[in-house]
Amino acid sequence: MFTRFSTLSRTAKRVTPIIAMIAFLFQPSQAQDSAVAPECPHCKNSASVVRIAYGRPSWELQEEAKQGKVHLGGCSAKKERWYCNRCKMSF
Ligand SMILES: [Zn+2]
Repeated sequence: MFTRFSTLSRTAKRVTPIIAMIAFLFQPSQAQDSAVAPECPHCKNSASVVRIAYGRPSWELQEEAKQGKVHLGGCSAKKERWYCNRCKMSF
């Protein structure tokens, strides 16, 4: 059992840099999306501001939307990029 576990952690050590590298490669587009939310022009609060995702949402995105982490903007992209959960307004 123990030997099996140590083999597993050794494999994990070998795999982790690869995962980190993949994560790094995919970062640029993600970093743009998860840019720091600006403050809402109405309530001047950035804590309740979330990114608006356009297009057909993926399963992950639907889950994030349920948790209020992202706002689904529908299929057609508009110029608004942010949504304030407090004011229920996009800007
Ligand atoms: Zn607001």
